[in-house]
Amino acid sequence: MPGAHASGKNAGIARQVEFDPVVRALAVRSLRLWSERADARPVVTRTGGLYLSRRSNRPRLDEAVRALARDGIACEILERPAVVGRWKFLEGVSLECAVWCAHDGIADIHAMLLSAIDRARAGGFVLRPRTEAQSLVVIDGRVAGVRTSAGPVAADVVVDAAGAWAGLLGAGRGSASGLVPVRRHLFTTSRPGEWPADAPVVWHLDEGFYVRPEGAGLLCSPCDETSQPPGDPVFDPEAEELLAEKLTRHGGLLAGVEVRRGWPCLRTFAPDRRPVIGWDRRIEGLFHVSGLGGFGMTASAAVGELAAALIAGDGVDAALAAAVSPARFAE
Ligand SMILES: Cc1cc2nc3c(=O)[nH]c(=O)nc-3n(C[C@H](O)[C@H](O)[C@H](O)COP(=O)(O)OP(=O)(O)OC[C@H]3O[C@@H](n4cnc5c(N)ncnc54)[C@H](O)[C@@H]3O)c2cc1C
Repeated sequence: MPGAHASGKNAGIARQVEFDPVVRALAVRSLRLWSERADARPVVTRTGGLYLSRRSNRPRLDEAVRALARDGIACEILERPAVVGRWKFLEGVSLECAVWCAHDGIADIHAMLLSAIDRARAGGFVLRPRTEAQSLVVIDGRVAGVRTSAGPVAADVVVDAAGAWAGLLGAGRGSASGLVPVRRHLFTTSRPGEWPADAPVVWHLDEGFYVRPEGAGLLCSPCDETSQPPGDPVFDPEAEELLAEKLTRHGGLLAGVEVRRGWPCLRTFAPDRRPVIGWDRRIEGLFHVSGLGGFGMTASAAVGELAAALIAGDGVDAALAAAVSPARFAE
């Protein structure tokens, strides 16, 4: 089912302040595409993103801010007094400086998914929910279709966009990308009275936690990372303890927020933490769209645009295509 896994269970943070240039380029392009789409309502609310850090990280922050400025995304680096002067509710939070990006915000992930499904249907695609793709039909080294739980489907091109399960369809025959699913927990909590309902996304880059408004409360993550096999991950109470510890030590007003609900889900990474988008090196007709890590919602429109152009044989940014190609991984 669309959204049954990562795409329906993530934090919905639309973040362009990324430190990897490839991920950043995809994030910037994608949010531009989402804002240009004439959907009934915008899928991204620009609450702004505030990325807290130690001063020793300044060179990295400076570089990201300069790169974003070249793309027309104005961000600024603020020292602690300016941060707590403007966002008083951050007074008790441990931070030395921060990147402020007014163009980041919160994605309505369900609206994104519905929009993508509508577009796919309008383009002639048929959605077959509750249908498992079980194996590839490969004839003379070329894809001829997929065997599914609802019978065979003939196809010249098969796109493996199976998230944490990506790579299993072609396993043993297709090229390997070394994808690893990693579990992360999210929690909804109460919101301290002084923490505004329209606060920006607050992401502590060094202490590893993030917080954003969600309904009447907050959505938080302790940014935990545990490798897991593909599947439905099990909730680990230690993640809730980790969140409480981080918020108590570094979160100021967030110390003692009441957890209401928590859930785990899998982010899937290639070894270099860049997406895997391109043709399989061994099986002709098999195309990969995977390894979308923790940025797959933000980058979704640009990932789709690049994948579609590569499949259709249209012109693409060659450097970007090479940076995400499965060919970058040696056998
Ligand atoms: C806790 C958490 C927080 C995150 N926060 C953010 C965030 O704030 N911002 C952001 O941009 N991104 C975030 N992400 C990342 C984002 O959610 C993912 O990058 C994105 O959802 C990946 O999309 P996907 O389509 O590759 O995978 P999925 O959404 O998991 O989709 C894969 C689909 O393939 C299906 N499938 C698998 N195998 C088969 C098969 N054999 N047959 C048929 N179907 C199959 C699955 O059922 C699933 O529906 C977060 C992720 C997690 C886990």
